[in-house]
Amino acid sequence: MLTDNIFLKIINKEIPAKIIHEDDVCVAFHDVRPVAPVHVLLVPRKVIATNDDLKPEDEGIVGHLHLVAAQLAGKLGLGKGYRLVINCKEQAGQTVPHLHLHLLGGREMTWPPG
Ligand code: 5GP
Repeated sequence: MLTDNIFLKIINKEIPAKIIHEDDVCVAFHDVRPVAPVHVLLVPRKVIATNDDLKPEDEGIVGHLHLVAAQLAGKLGLGKGYRLVINCKEQAGQTVPHLHLHLLGGREMTWPPG
């Protein structure tokens, strides 16, 4: 389950992805199996396995991911709204052991999530 860090390979350009943003802190790319018209993953360059593994010094990374998500949402035409999701560990549906923010939009969202 949470063993193969495919995102690190994307960050290191060892495998391809549709990258839409890169900076010193994070990389953002389109999800290969989108569940919404817009489905982007925002991934810190630093390897942090899950949300539970965040350290106090990572506070800036998380804030940065949210700010970039807001910028990308604007660029991708999500002015009417979008959803940001972090799945933490297996029971919540996390499959890649590298912290990531899902940016989802372009359709009506339901609540509660499944
Ligand atoms: P999680 O389930 O860990 O919260 O989210 C992992 C996401 O990564 C899933 O939505 C899945 O479709 C996506 N994903 C898995 N492997 C790849 C890949 O090789 N390339 C891209 N672009 N997305 C991937």
